[in-house]
Amino acid sequence: MQDCLFCKIANKEIPSFKVWENDKYLAFLDINPIKQGHILLIPKKHFPYLFDMPDEEYNQLMETAKKLSLPLKEYFQANRIGMIVEGLAVDHVHVHLVPINKVGELNPANSKEGNQEELKSLADKLIQYFNSSLGH
Ligand SMILES: [Zn+2]
Repeated sequence: MQDCLFCKIANKEIPSFKVWENDKYLAFLDINPIKQGHILLIPKKHFPYLFDMPDEEYNQLMETAKKLSLPLKEYFQANRIGMIVEGLAVDHVHVHLVPINKVGELNPANSKEGNQEELKSLADKLIQYFNSSLGH
């Protein structure tokens, strides 16, 4: 889709702090994280709304979120990986996965612009960690 930010990221027309991908899905660091380790998982194909996705693709997306949550939780030694899907800011399905420890942490109002160098260095570490635990 033209002029869709996440299609451009999926097509590598715009760079992202990638942490994992396969042929259908891409995960990268949110540049305005709620907490450190906040990632976005997107289908490479453009779907505007989660609950309009065909069942097969919806299920695959959720399975991928589950799969990514394991190394993310382990890496940050978090109690949980919280998940948010709202999709109001960018009209391309994206699942927020956020390492959390306490009630109230999974709050979009806490999102702050990340430091680019810190994001880059975290992405470099996470991409290796995800690849070693998940492959593709
Ligand atoms: Zn798109």
